[in-house]
Amino acid sequence: MRYIDGFRDPVTAERLVRLIAVQGRELGARGRSVRIMEVCGSHTMAVGRYGIRSLLPANVELISGPGCPVCVTDPGYIDAAAELAGGGAVIVTFGDMVRVPGSVSDLAACRAAGGDVRVCYSPAAALAAARADPGREVVFLAVGFETTAAPGASLVATAVREGLGNLSLLTAFKTVPPALEALMGDPETAISAFLCPAHVSAIIGAKAYEPVAARFRVPCVIAGFEPVDILYGISGILAQALNGEARVENRYTRVARAGGNARALALMARHLEPVDAVWRGIGVIPNSGLGLKAEFSGYDAERKLGVRIKPGIIQPGCACGDVMKGKRRPADCALFARACTPDKPAGPCMVSAEGTCAAAFRYELTSV
Ligand code: SF4
Repeated sequence: MRYIDGFRDPVTAERLVRLIAVQGRELGARGRSVRIMEVCGSHTMAVGRYGIRSLLPANVELISGPGCPVCVTDPGYIDAAAELAGGGAVIVTFGDMVRVPGSVSDLAACRAAGGDVRVCYSPAAALAAARADPGREVVFLAVGFETTAAPGASLVATAVREGLGNLSLLTAFKTVPPALEALMGDPETAISAFLCPAHVSAIIGAKAYEPVAARFRVPCVIAGFEPVDILYGISGILAQALNGEARVENRYTRVARAGGNARALALMARHLEPVDAVWRGIGVIPNSGLGLKAEFSGYDAERKLGVRIKPGIIQPGCACGDVMKGKRRPADCALFARACTPDKPAGPCMVSAEGTCAAAFRYELTSV
């Protein structure tokens, strides 16, 4: 199929649904089913909002993976941020992080107890806070995937240029390709293909998925966030399944390129380096994080302020880890929609606007 210009066009969406039905039937006639994982919080929400699962044949399953940056943040990270706030630092963070449970509490409670925790929409807010109050340490909670790692690196570059001595980052950046490899290495996930994220792919480029596609013979198709984008991506995966292929295909060419965003990648390479990272409920994935290089240790909150991110304690009964590995659906968790709701979340997958449990609660809940 040609590149789609009308990515919001209902007629195109209908055609794609029909194509997917035909592809599903052909696969079914060969006794095959396909289990597709999307690894992107925006895909998770769009899939729920537009009812895309209900449009798929029975032998094509679409599951959500660890694509929500808030959801994969370990409770120990929240504990460290709360410790810094308790010690008098100004904490600047994206909004969802405030309600993510730590081992015993969250940053909202920390703020209610007098901690200076400020919600931002951009890392630039941390710069503004540091400039405005040179006498106080400002700590930016540097979580997220490659899409936020690039602005995080830019934040450090600006701080260095301006000689800002009161700004640091508590880093928990994650990178997507090592997570895909770890998921494929777990036979219980039974993933047939990946619907690769849009924004992350715009930064890292399509080529970044080639090692996982080749090593595990798994189709990796990059798709945008609109319903037609997602259907177009799914039809691309099914075409590969029918043809016995396992390659990277970019179906988001209006934004993502083969080599990614050279400027963003250069900024990241200059300031950040791969580190092992803890993914909440999943565990340590080697080289799946990005930390500040030693030469920028003056901007690294752990090294500069002596705080340590220790393993945290997950709420008993929260099945976020299995949900993010696609092993369980949110409704399989005993707390779902009972002890865990968007108003009173027990786990991060219910906190974030991009969380799998929040999407299921909002769009797919039929009864409790
Ligand atoms: Fe965790 Fe709540 Fe989801 Fe259960 S429903 S897995 S407690 S976030």
